Amino acid sequence: RQAAFRTDLTALLDQVGTGKESLSFMKRRIRRLAAQWATAAQRLDLKLHRRWREQKKILVHVGFLTEESGDVFSPKVLKGGPLGEMVQWADILTTLYVLGHNLKISVSVKELQGFLGVPPGRGSCPLTGPLPFDLIYTDYHGLQQMKQHMGLSLKKHKCHIRVIDTFGTEPVYNHEEYATLHGYRTNWGYWNLNTRQYMTMFPHTPDNSFMGFVSEELNKTEKHKIQQNKVKNMAVVYGKEASMWKLQGKEKFLEILHRYMEVHGTVYYETQRPPEVPAFVKNHGLLPQQDLQQLLRKAKLFIGFGFPYEGPAPLEAIANGCIYLQPKFRPPHSSLNHEFFRGKPTSREVSSQHPYAEQYIGRPHVMTVDYNNSEEFETAVREIMRIKEFCASETPFPPVNVSVVWPRGMFMQVGESGQVSWAENSTAPPCWPPLSALRFRMSAEGQSCVDACRSSDLVCEPAFFRYINNKEALSKLQVQCDVVEFEMNHVFPAFSATARECGLQKEPLLFSCAGFANKYRRVCPCRDFRKGQVALCHDCL
Ligand code: UDP
Repeated sequence: RQAAFRTDLTALLDQVGTGKESLSFMKRRIRRLAAQWATAAQRLDLKLHRRWREQKKILVHVGFLTEESGDVFSPKVLKGGPLGEMVQWADILTTLYVLGHNLKISVSVKELQGFLGVPPGRGSCPLTGPLPFDLIYTDYHGLQQMKQHMGLSLKKHKCHIRVIDTFGTEPVYNHEEYATLHGYRTNWGYWNLNTRQYMTMFPHTPDNSFMGFVSEELNKTEKHKIQQNKVKNMAVVYGKEASMWKLQGKEKFLEILHRYMEVHGTVYYETQRPPEVPAFVKNHGLLPQQDLQQLLRKAKLFIGFGFPYEGPAPLEAIANGCIYLQPKFRPPHSSLNHEFFRGKPTSREVSSQHPYAEQYIGRPHVMTVDYNNSEEFETAVREIMRIKEFCASETPFPPVNVSVVWPRGMFMQVGESGQVSWAENSTAPPCWPPLSALRFRMSAEGQSCVDACRSSDLVCEPAFFRYINNKEALSKLQVQCDVVEFEMNHVFPAFSATARECGLQKEPLLFSCAGFANKYRRVCPCRDFRKGQVALCHDCL
């Protein structure tokens, strides 16, 4: 069947269901952005010249919202709890629906069993017949539930699954045997999927896919209006829960900030002002998303205290013409040194509250400074005071990179993730991206391919690893090795200068852009990318 674009979201809203505050939040978001989705869909439809697209049967099983997983999120929706995940799921549902797919949504194990055709009350009875869906989008909780209820057959159907995984899963943690042998076992990893099946909130490592979410797209008139109405000395603090205001030394820099600006907050409170919020802060309480956008349209500065990590709010602020000021982390936070990341299947080092904003957007929209250094902090605030409102002709606003999260970007991410062909160990050559985009790079010792490619303004492309995992590639890079090993090692292909040893990768599931090890220089498959659309290379369309 052909998939036809849908612009009326009523049926989707009915499908999302009721009974949980999280579902109501998602529906409010879907409703609020409906017009924007419709416009984007019409544009894409025209661009594709009504090209034939297959309608896929897709199950979306939101594991973290099921009672069986404890659903700790729903009761906190109106109390300052995390909302980023719900933002993303709402946008995934809308994208799939607008693209015209045949969608089933489940937020309980019972619904999951119903959709998969597992008889009720026979939880451990495996699904033996064919999978009734082309694709299943779920999360780690959902994956666990499917394992319980689909039993052995999960292995058979694995390549149809996409896992929404905010912070990402690196290949070492994903490979069960390797993780167990080398101390990378966590609560989450070891599913032996193709790591491209994990879809993150931001493009953390190209080993995973990047799903993203949607931010508002403003037209010229709206931008103009926002520029006119900006209040030059107004700052909004990023942090909707009082505990986010507990950062050590906060009094000092808040006081500096207050010397220059009027400080606003959107901290949840029940009856009285939370003690963590200083008296000079004008606290609006937790705001509905729409009202927060209005506040951001007036503000000049959105300031982070270091938590939450990597949420959507800074991008919303930037899209509404704010400058985002955030703390640099020295040393970087990671699963080795910070409770929040402990047990997460990634060794990624988080260099600031929002590394995506730091690395992909940067100045003048994003300023990342050391908050422990009052002088550096004050200089940044002074600089912000001097920046004129972003004017379309000078610095584009929002900056072009934010477009990775506009609906057209999201359509693309989802479109690509929908290829069922990421079967584990698939040996067929990738038809995308074209091999002509491959650029070899050698990393420095102890450097990952993510960083090695980035330092040449390129991006690591895991699909190309299999083309560079051979002696010819090593000799092209003029690497002199006395011995060539062929084994399971997440940094291979690589070269050890001290031992004059080369290593080639034996296990395709361990090809890793993120991996690094002290004594190794890695052989990296990089490719170019389009500015603002990192998923695409120059010759990709
Ligand atoms: N948000 C909101 N009201 C507020 C503060 C935030 O609706 O007073 C929304 C915001 O628009 C964003 C979402 O909460 O889309 C998640 O924001 P955040 O970046 O704080 O990430 P989280 O930690 O919730 O995942």
